[in-house]
Amino acid sequence: MTSKPISQTNIPAAPASARSMAPEYDFFKVVQGYLDQAAKVINLEPYVATILSQPKNEIIVNFPVKMDNGEVRLFKGYRVQHNNLLGPFKGGIRYAQMVTLDEVKALATMMTWKGSLMGLPYGGGKGGIKFDPRGVTKGELQRITRRFTHALGENIGPEYDIPAPDMGTNSQTMAWMMDTYSNMVGSNQKQSVKGVVTGKPVASGGTLGRTKATGQGMVHCLTEWARDKGFNLEGSTMIVQGFGNVGSHFAVLLAKLGVSTIAVGDHAGYLYNPEGFNAHKLQDYVLQNGSIGGYPGGKAITREEFWAMKADICAPSALENQIGEAEARVIQAKVIVEGANGPTTPEGEKILLDRNIDILPDVLANSGGVTVSYYEWVQNKRSETWTLEEVDEKLERAMKRVYKNVDDFARQRKVDRRIASYALALARIESVYKEREIFP
Ligand code: NAD
Repeated sequence: MTSKPISQTNIPAAPASARSMAPEYDFFKVVQGYLDQAAKVINLEPYVATILSQPKNEIIVNFPVKMDNGEVRLFKGYRVQHNNLLGPFKGGIRYAQMVTLDEVKALATMMTWKGSLMGLPYGGGKGGIKFDPRGVTKGELQRITRRFTHALGENIGPEYDIPAPDMGTNSQTMAWMMDTYSNMVGSNQKQSVKGVVTGKPVASGGTLGRTKATGQGMVHCLTEWARDKGFNLEGSTMIVQGFGNVGSHFAVLLAKLGVSTIAVGDHAGYLYNPEGFNAHKLQDYVLQNGSIGGYPGGKAITREEFWAMKADICAPSALENQIGEAEARVIQAKVIVEGANGPTTPEGEKILLDRNIDILPDVLANSGGVTVSYYEWVQNKRSETWTLEEVDEKLERAMKRVYKNVDDFARQRKVDRRIASYALALARIESVYKEREIFP
């Protein structure tokens, strides 16, 4: 095949980013809609639905940072704390130009469902800063992160609210956050606050297995799905949107099971390789270059061609609002594995389900990340270091157990897996509200 590298100039038009920023898409409303549907299925106490319909706290901070050229820029940061009935608020920090309060509210709410569904002692939270992390230097990125952490102050803490990486952030970001926080609490507490963030580098108190955890959890869901359906993963094909932490690890892990990634896309464009990409090499390339742009091993295609590509598995692993009606009509996969949060719109979902395309929904499929974050937090609390095998085994057991719970519920109650996941998450939260009742 002829391989034509993509570059900044021949990248297909920008419909992906334009669509994802479309003002008419109200992500928080979408999440609330699923809550309402699941509440009906389990006859959720109306007062529980009322409490969960809005986050407990919505924190907005504006903070100044001196840029390399001496200019002072004001940044807007968010931390939304949705619910902490089951445990501390827990959820990632997103750095992106498109970050809005409503987006963070939606993501924080979903974290409450994930913690509950996975049986973790966590509530839900999410944060973000509205800026393009690719447009600043490493030094600026560090100062932005430290100043944001300082601005959040006591609104985060290892027993109160525990951030982690999300889009645009990584283990380095977490190392800076932890270091800043530990310098804020005073030297006699420095060692005991490592658990203020998870997703840290291993040497700084992170856990083995966290970097790949979200992709690994998706693999467990997919292998369970394949076993139930009698589908042979070996020799099958996949398309993946987003080749950052989630998408790239999913592709690398699936390659070991004989799944060939034949099309990839990210903010820089889309690439096709009918023989399958070398997922390892592409992952390394993206780590070095920041995107798939310019990678020599594939042919540039448009976003429309990407979604219409014939492949068995489709893994949206970038951002929300990507599979709408148009995409859902042309997708040819047998199963959608949602690595991203909210990649499928309700309209897209209806079309996919009508076309008998299975969906492994975000709150189930990508919850390996928060699960291994929990393992990291436990290790920090106990001053322990678990082996990769221990982490992997625990995650596998957790994902397979919850996958089965969701699948059984969906079958028995004749609902889709998303509503089943929400329903199971809500039922656990409801039982605790019923026991503890409402203060005062
Ligand atoms: P990342 O920053 O490592 O990667 C994001 C990817 O999305 C990049 O490849 C980027 O180029 C791509 N992207 C950004 N804008 C795009 C656009 N307009 N069109 C196409 N591609 C675009 O982030 P990540 O941690 O891999 O997170 C990806 C998704 O997974 C997010 O929705 C996040 O909330 C979700 N998620 C992440 C974790 C985690 O542990 N990191 C856990 C659960 C869910």
